[in-house]
Amino acid sequence: MTSPWMTEELTLLAESTARFAARELAPHAERWRQQKIVDRSAWLKAGAAGLLCASIPEAYGGGGGDRRHETVIGAELSKAGLGGGFGTGIGVSCGLVAHYLLRYGTDAQKLAWLPGMARGEIVAAIAMTEPGAGSDLQNIRTTARRDGDVYVLNGQKTFISNGQSADIVVVAAKTGGEGAKGVSLIVLEAAKAEGFRRGRNLDKIGMHAQDTSELFFDDVRVPAENLLGGEEGRGFVQLMQELAWERLSCALSAVTNTERAVEMTAAYVKERTAFGKPLMAFQNTQFRLAECKSKAVIARTFVDDLMMKMLDGRLDPTAAAMAKWWTTQTLNEVADECLQLHGGYGYMNEYPIAQLWADARVTKIFAGANEIMNMLIARSWCRAGHPTKTRTSRKEADNDESARSGGRHDPLHQARPERRLGRDGREGHPSGAGRRRYFL
Ligand SMILES: Cc1cc2nc3c(=O)[nH]c(=O)nc-3n(C[C@H](O)[C@H](O)[C@H](O)COP(=O)(O)OP(=O)(O)OC[C@H]3O[C@@H](n4cnc5c(N)ncnc54)[C@H](O)[C@@H]3O)c2cc1C
Repeated sequence: MTSPWMTEELTLLAESTARFAARELAPHAERWRQQKIVDRSAWLKAGAAGLLCASIPEAYGGGGGDRRHETVIGAELSKAGLGGGFGTGIGVSCGLVAHYLLRYGTDAQKLAWLPGMARGEIVAAIAMTEPGAGSDLQNIRTTARRDGDVYVLNGQKTFISNGQSADIVVVAAKTGGEGAKGVSLIVLEAAKAEGFRRGRNLDKIGMHAQDTSELFFDDVRVPAENLLGGEEGRGFVQLMQELAWERLSCALSAVTNTERAVEMTAAYVKERTAFGKPLMAFQNTQFRLAECKSKAVIARTFVDDLMMKMLDGRLDPTAAAMAKWWTTQTLNEVADECLQLHGGYGYMNEYPIAQLWADARVTKIFAGANEIMNMLIARSWCRAGHPTKTRTSRKEADNDESARSGGRHDPLHQARPERRLGRDGREGHPSGAGRRRYFL
């Protein structure tokens, strides 16, 4: 199924990414799974091949493309079996952190880090989750106390993707002030941060090549100029504003893996025989695969529609939440059904369906747990039915911005002009030329 947002240029990008992945990355994938981290040389090669920061403007060293370029690269890495490892690492560094820097960073901050990230010399992480605060981000305890021209960071984070490899970490910390208004994002440069310590590379049930870690901050002095955007108390809003894309991106990746699961299983059941005939000859196999294929096509149709809306500036955050929960739930159902059709071989790590199944599980938890997605969907619906319960003051609005969940109010529901993308979804040039106001 070809997505309506694909173009000839994007097809060529997909083909060259697939060739690069097969030649330069896939041969190392098993070793990376064993060592629980991707080699830094792979980041440098991917950077040289133009696969990093594809949706960041060329002025900051990026590829000058848009979210479609990034999506195509991610999809090809998933198809090569690298999605749960290097694909996730790139997604976090280039798909998330680079865009926080692009959108909120001062020009000095963008120039300091984005070009290095595009070359693969700088790997980035985003550290929000703490042992005591995941879904409920407002309750984070990490603090950043201003002391002259530095912030002094104290606290702990956990489950941080790229945690072992990160050269810069965007840390969500309390800088003072009540609730959501007290949170700021501070960019920690690992090499210059005395008192910063990485904990264990966590032992996960899937995504084995992706390093996921605890991080500790013990009186770490970070230059005040590393405060993202230069204004305290904006961290929560900054995090929330990127969420609609983060959720759609997660959904796009889930759909690619759903399609992969169906394809690899269809091939397997044609080869494998039982009771003297291919597994595909059993009606049960045909029906199960027919259901899986239908789910994959329905999911693809929905996320493609949202992608088109995103490119046109009309992405509805509630729809993005729907896409995130439904596609990740569907991926898990399909992966499980497909594993079943592989029999015992499906339970063996050397079979791609086993890795896909294990990697899929976390998609229902990260980028906002699916229960949180349901809460947001229900809330938008309740709000629509209770017009008298809309916010009345700015103070009320600030108090509402209370959780990764979007709290009681997800600021993305406010249609405010803050994103500058062209009709094709390209980020506006920093000079401001050709900018178009965009509503995410
Ligand atoms: C592999 C992996 C990579 C990750 N990468 C990162 C990263 O790079 N950076 C980062 O900051 N974090 C990262 N995380 C953390 C991730 O975002 C959190 O795990 C997630 O937000 C859930 O938080 P929690 O684990 O504290 O679960 P909790 O908040 O304790 O929630 C546990 C469960 O309770 C239920 N629940 C919670 N709240 C509600 C509610 N309001 N209503 C109904 N049910 C609810 C849900 O079922 C949820 O799954 C990663 C996690 C994993 C596993």
